Amino acid sequence: MPSPNFDSRPDNARIKLIVVHGISLPPGEYGGGHIRKFFCNRLDAGEHAYFESICEMRVSAHCLIERDGSIVQFVSFRERAWHAGASEWRGETACNDFSVGIELEGCDDEAYEVEQYASLAGLVAALRNRYPEIAADALAGHSDIAPGRKTDPGPAFDWSRLKRMISGRSGGVA
Ligand SMILES: [Zn+2]
Repeated sequence: MPSPNFDSRPDNARIKLIVVHGISLPPGEYGGGHIRKFFCNRLDAGEHAYFESICEMRVSAHCLIERDGSIVQFVSFRERAWHAGASEWRGETACNDFSVGIELEGCDDEAYEVEQYASLAGLVAALRNRYPEIAADALAGHSDIAPGRKTDPGPAFDWSRLKRMISGRSGGVA
């Protein structure tokens, strides 16, 4: 589902980080397709009071993983999606330049679905295969790269579960 919210990565940018996000629209509600619309600038401000405050925002992620594990891609991995905002990872700022952004439909304090972990683990494995500069530990939450400003994917996101599922996919080889 192509989003217009992207631009080119800087010429020398290497893809070396995966950023995990959480989002629900309206907050706390799942389904309805509002996140897809949001990333494509088609959110209807009249549909919910909260939408009025965000419908002019121009943001995106490379992929969204919905509650049933469905993966929707909005931006080519070669291009720069607009998901991280002001951010820093290991001393480098502007993480959008060198990262892939993956949104999970969810809330900071509610368990994510097993189907979402499975889809994310598969996506991470595929991305590492395609972009070998993404190191095994180059996984960050939005809250890790924008501390104090962002809280997603939140304490409900089980990083050790994700890492187990990723290593399970690669036969236990790191
Ligand atoms: Zn985020």
